[in-house]
Amino acid sequence: MTGKLIIFSAPSGSGKTTIVRQLLSRLPQLEFSISATSRQPRGTEQNGVDYFFLSQEEFHERVSAGEFVEWEEVYNGTCYGTLRSEIERIWQKGNTIIFDVDVMGGINLKRIFGEQACSIFIMPPSIQELEKRLIGRATDAPEVIAKRVAKAEFELSKSTEFDHVVINDDLTVAVEQTHNIIQNFIKG
Ligand code: ADP
Ligand code: 5GP
Repeated sequence: MTGKLIIFSAPSGSGKTTIVRQLLSRLPQLEFSISATSRQPRGTEQNGVDYFFLSQEEFHERVSAGEFVEWEEVYNGTCYGTLRSEIERIWQKGNTIIFDVDVMGGINLKRIFGEQACSIFIMPPSIQELEKRLIGRATDAPEVIAKRVAKAEFELSKSTEFDHVVINDDLTVAVEQTHNIIQNFIKG
């Protein structure tokens, strides 16, 4: 079973989750790949909806069992990964998969799936604005925000490895641009 996939990557706080949510409601053939993570749920997040929340031990057992297509220790001690079973589940329904993964995960998925994949990098207008959005989101402690901002510079340097770069300054414009990129990719 095979199909197409769309990869969204960006430094945390760029707005990719916001953009992906809007695209999912506009394009019914897209289905979100639910990642596994070893972090705790935050806010209203639910197991099996936002993520599969695993203990650190279970995450590594499943890595050893070869259940992940890709996984990364995105932040110190916190792992995230894409389960092979998610890809199979979505392609079996004939849907196109949409991924929200970190920058290295996005580059790896593109390397694995080649022309089957369309990779999109969501660029914040500036690092200052990124920090402002993370503070405004109010979901992370100040030290977590500091870690995410510190990583952003490296992540921005990887944007050229993606098929498309979309600047998320005005949200409506960014959604429109990504929507057009995806429609062209699905048609092609
Ligand atoms: P990410 O998934 O990349 O970490 P989010 O989608 O959670 O980012 O967005 C981070 C914060 O920035 C959220 O509070 C969101 O509402 C806000 N945001 C997203 N896009 C914009 C935008 N274009 N202008 C201003 N704020 C935005
Ligand atoms: P958050 O903790 O904010 O939900 O996510 C932190 C980071 O982990 C984000 O950049 C997100 O895209 C990334 N991430 C989520 N799922 C995966 C995954 O399956 N693989 C990889 N490599 N990164 C992921």
